[in-house]
Amino acid sequence: MLGILKEILAVYDDLISERLVETKIYPSKMRKGLGRHIHKDDTAEHFCRGRKIYRRGYRNRTIKTVFGSLAFRVRVAECLTCGSRYSPLLNALQVEGYSRKEVNFEKDVIEAVIDTNYRRLIEGRSIDISLGGVHNIVVGSDIDKTFQEDVSVQDLSGIMADGTGVKQHKGSKGELRTVVGISQQGRVVPLGSFVNTSWPEIENVVKARIKGTADHPIPFVYDGEPGLDDFLSGAAEVQRCTWHAPRGLYHALWEDGLKKKESQPQIDKVKQLVGIELPAGDFEILKEEDKEPVRTRYEKSKKEVQELISTFYEKGYQKGASYLENLSKRLFTNIELWLSTGIIAPKTTSLLERVFREIGRRLKRIAWGWSDAAVTNLSKMILIKQYAKDKWEQFWKEKLGIKGYFNIQIQTVEINL
Ligand SMILES: [Zn+2]
Repeated sequence: MLGILKEILAVYDDLISERLVETKIYPSKMRKGLGRHIHKDDTAEHFCRGRKIYRRGYRNRTIKTVFGSLAFRVRVAECLTCGSRYSPLLNALQVEGYSRKEVNFEKDVIEAVIDTNYRRLIEGRSIDISLGGVHNIVVGSDIDKTFQEDVSVQDLSGIMADGTGVKQHKGSKGELRTVVGISQQGRVVPLGSFVNTSWPEIENVVKARIKGTADHPIPFVYDGEPGLDDFLSGAAEVQRCTWHAPRGLYHALWEDGLKKKESQPQIDKVKQLVGIELPAGDFEILKEEDKEPVRTRYEKSKKEVQELISTFYEKGYQKGASYLENLSKRLFTNIELWLSTGIIAPKTTSLLERVFREIGRRLKRIAWGWSDAAVTNLSKMILIKQYAKDKWEQFWKEKLGIKGYFNIQIQTVEINL
């Protein structure tokens, strides 16, 4: 693509200079928009009216493109009217000024931060930028005003949320909270990233973004984080993580005075009850007799959980009983959803944990001591670059003013052996 682009630019450069040189052949309307330049001796930087040039050789330029860096020759023109030397091609491509270079630079810095090779970026290209400078670029980004479009829950199989600690200024501990959707194909769909923000506030933002929840039931999966018990209620069905939920019983029973040896069998029992496997394959073509074992096991497991709660009460395990009671309403949401709709929803938060490890690893490398705004922006950037790559590229294309004026079609391909 770089080779093709180089050819196109060379031809375009010739075409422009041809029109600016041969002013007798080309009427002014064929030179419209070409050859604009600042008058050589005008300190107020007014544009020159001259549109006739001499060719004055070439100079080398490197421009950034979506395909990578492109080094090529651009024609140098000299204006007959004022004597100013400029490159009509760069002017026509609108790559003359410094603004785009800075946006490109911004993209480089941000991607280097995300990919944690920021040191290499600075050393490799001798860019002079301090950590404070990087911080300013991240804070100054408009990422917080983008990626706000609605998400249809029909494309999602579940929503997850969790928080993690981040070190901020003067060693104070902040909390990063992230909400993601899981697509039907099992991909992460970022829904929001927040620093030091209350769950009810986050809930409002997320609720405003997700559409179609009235007609489409969707589970919200979490690992028991306090404050999330009723998160997205009215919009999603709450499901406790089936990995964390049985393990949480250990702490409750420990408070009731049970030793690990005594509580372990109870935990194993709950683990076994929630571990209902769903048959693979399309729900629509599954026969009723394939669904029946799931229904039977679900009903049996539900009953056994209730029996376990009663047993706990009888034995005086108050904490364990109320833990399990609280849990019991949210343990089988994914099974109930599958039985009624066929949707295979996530039942553990393992995917979100992976997301958090990705964010955490990157934040720790650079964002130590950063402000709320910087950590929020950076975590959003990490999420979007990692999990919504096409949207990330689109975001930068728009910022870089890449409008797609050229449309390259390959007509024939020959292979010469
Ligand atoms: Zn001029």
